[in-house]
Amino acid sequence: MALISTASARFAPEVYAARLEHAAAAAAARDLDALLITPSSDYAYLLGYRPPELERLTCLVLSASGAPALVLPRLEEPLARHEVGRLADRLEIVTWDETDDPFQLVSRRLPGALRVGLQDRMWARFALRLGALLDPAELVEAGPTMSALRRIKEAAEVHRLRTVAAAADAAMTAITAERFSGRTEAELSRRINELLLAAGHHSADFAIVGSGPNSASPHHAPGDRMVEKGDAVVLDIGGTRDGYCSDTTRTAFVGEPPADFVALYEVLRQAQAAACAAVAPGVPAREIDRTARQIIEEAGYGEHFFHRTGHGIGMETHEEPYIVESNGEPLRAGDAFSVEPGIYLVGQWGARIEDIVVCTDDGGERLNQTSTELFIVA
Ligand code: ZN
Ligand code: ZN
Ligand code: ZN
Repeated sequence: MALISTASARFAPEVYAARLEHAAAAAAARDLDALLITPSSDYAYLLGYRPPELERLTCLVLSASGAPALVLPRLEEPLARHEVGRLADRLEIVTWDETDDPFQLVSRRLPGALRVGLQDRMWARFALRLGALLDPAELVEAGPTMSALRRIKEAAEVHRLRTVAAAADAAMTAITAERFSGRTEAELSRRINELLLAAGHHSADFAIVGSGPNSASPHHAPGDRMVEKGDAVVLDIGGTRDGYCSDTTRTAFVGEPPADFVALYEVLRQAQAAACAAVAPGVPAREIDRTARQIIEEAGYGEHFFHRTGHGIGMETHEEPYIVESNGEPLRAGDAFSVEPGIYLVGQWGARIEDIVVCTDDGGERLNQTSTELFIVA
């Protein structure tokens, strides 16, 4: 993973000081003695920078009662001090030399710990070493504690999501003005990556182009297929700017679409709009899924909508809250997630429409502004 400078992306040190405090309190509320957070979005959320994920242990030891400590290899200390800046006053920085055992440095900070939360994507190697040293402490996922904090976006985070959504919209507007026929999916995908960057993303993360029968494969990998007249084309694109992600899908048709595709698309468009309109604080996440699914089912396409309606988005493209039947959690102001139903007739064609929606006190705010009508392309 490339190290991306986050200097411009960092919020004020007070923001991270508050997040560290909230995370420690949230850990205590879940009967955890500490959270151990290795480089990840959780780490970046708490400290404002994201070091590379390496074989050398870097670990934020966030004790539920004491002061936080950052254990890292000596060669990473200058980077850490530079990145955390004034926050360093509230963090003990503990460096280890090449021949030291960093796991001991972590475990010694947690005497008598009974339950410790590990960052969800911590390497198994690290988790096993820590587990042996912390024995008999119970190790659990830090995910539920961290995602409960991260899912509610602060105003400054919503602002970033709005900005990055606008950049994705600009790329979508640009690509749908171009000629599709005679270009391969892979060519169009590469072009979208250029457009995402030109529109202000710092990284272009994905550009799914599924044409013809491939439009019925929701996570199609763009390949050598040549796009031609009569193809439906699903475009699902996104990237990152200042640490926050975009993700939007539109469907195009090359030439005049036949009546049965238009009919399918109209059902999808109504379902997606109704699901967006259903967003409000207190509404269970599953209700948004049900709203879209019911319209699609009533039109006879139920079995052709075979994925959840959406996923939370923020510092990661997929995070809490998931918009799925199994999630009965009420939405709260500050939740940000995709609403992306699709209808896929396998072997023939498919369509999907995806917008990012933020739940506000007044209902859902759609961050993507491009028209959800079928784009007719040449
Ligand atoms: Zn997806
Ligand atoms: Zn998407
Ligand atoms: Zn998505």
